Amino acid sequence: MTTPQSWEARADESSLYGFTDLPSVHERGAVIVTHGEGPYIFDVNGKRYLDANSGLWNMVAGFDNKPLAEAAKAQYDRFPGYHAFFGRMSDQTVLLSEKLVEVSPFERGRVFYTNSGSEANDTMVKMLWFLHASEDNPKRRKILTRWNAYHGVTAVSASMTGKPYNEVFGLPLEGFIHLTCPHYWRFGEEGETEEEFTARLAAELEDTIKREGADTIAGFFAEPVMGAGGVIPPSKGYFQAIAPILKKYDIPLISDEVICGFGRTGNTWGCETYGFTPDAIISSKNLTAGLFPMGAVILGPELADRVQAAVEKIEEFPHGFTASGHPVGCAIALKAIDVVMNDGLAENVKRLAPRLEAGLRAIMDRSDNIGELRGIGFMWALEAVKDKATKTPFDGSLSVSERIANTCTDLGLICRPLGQSIVLCPPFILTEEQMDEMFEKLEQALNKVF
Ligand code: PLP
Repeated sequence: MTTPQSWEARADESSLYGFTDLPSVHERGAVIVTHGEGPYIFDVNGKRYLDANSGLWNMVAGFDNKPLAEAAKAQYDRFPGYHAFFGRMSDQTVLLSEKLVEVSPFERGRVFYTNSGSEANDTMVKMLWFLHASEDNPKRRKILTRWNAYHGVTAVSASMTGKPYNEVFGLPLEGFIHLTCPHYWRFGEEGETEEEFTARLAAELEDTIKREGADTIAGFFAEPVMGAGGVIPPSKGYFQAIAPILKKYDIPLISDEVICGFGRTGNTWGCETYGFTPDAIISSKNLTAGLFPMGAVILGPELADRVQAAVEKIEEFPHGFTASGHPVGCAIALKAIDVVMNDGLAENVKRLAPRLEAGLRAIMDRSDNIGELRGIGFMWALEAVKDKATKTPFDGSLSVSERIANTCTDLGLICRPLGQSIVLCPPFILTEEQMDEMFEKLEQALNKVF
């Protein structure tokens, strides 16, 4: 008699895993998920996990939110068809664009839809290239971002991403320039204050613009808080220091709010939390509370007018995806914005963020191997170090954060290893009891690993 193969073995044989540590998954098997309830997911063996990763930052309203599922069903029943181009557009798309401009920091604007955050960044870059060429500045093509930034995986957005793993693809493409990551704890120099560090980064930006020539630079992209780089809030005064420099050289500042947007930092937008107004916003993930793959480029008034003028000139913007502005995605996004902003979810983040920070800080203080706690709102990271005083990282083939995350998984808690840190970005519906469960399991895991 043959034993039927396990789900885990079947996954291992049939699938090419993305962003997965292979030795871990070969040894342990992937978690094969069947369903979810609130912030919990369940695997094929019936085991329950508290998902402190919110899926991938996006399932902010939990895994079984009825109003969102009903909004999706209603629109599938009413009209599930794609009509984004050739003079046609869904009524839901119009409603969502109006809503996005209304809740944006802009008094006016225009919206363009994609299927993902990567494509939204890619689209923004193409829009800037198109715009500058139309305004007789065809040399303005270089893109400025930062080391440790994450902007996606398409050839362009991966080139914007400041991670060494993209070298295996021969990326970044030419013309994508990475500036210093604004992580003071890690990159501040001996004796340098945080203010001096920020000033150094602002000077680096201006020097780079002068060296490359302002007339060769298309735009500057930044996440308000770097997410997949390891939850790195900007150093003190960072955006206040760089925004005027970009303005001086007429370089658009694009806020990549794929993670920070719609409440993650405690306000609707990360740029609001850090006190700057960008020229455009990139949105995805929580835009649909994770229920539909969708991204959006939201142009502020000046860029909206300039891009529209460029389009008028050639009478067509030759860009778009088959499912751009899909009516079901738009209907879900309209509901998701309502649920997050008006049903107490954003409020829950604001109310419980100090409790989340305090609990994690207490865990750090009790550990000899957590060197830094950083974050804001409902996005935090604990950085593991071999030595707290010297900030020396751990070495070894399986990173310590991978071992912590694996141990958490065994204990029924999903959290994400990122470099040397453990990331916690729970759904916005998290209760105080569920938060305590998260703290308990995390500390248990840390005690087992260290
Ligand atoms: N931008 C940021 C800030 C992100 O965090 C991500 C994904 O994590 C992306 C862009 C890419 O989005 P997607 O994975 O939907 O392509």
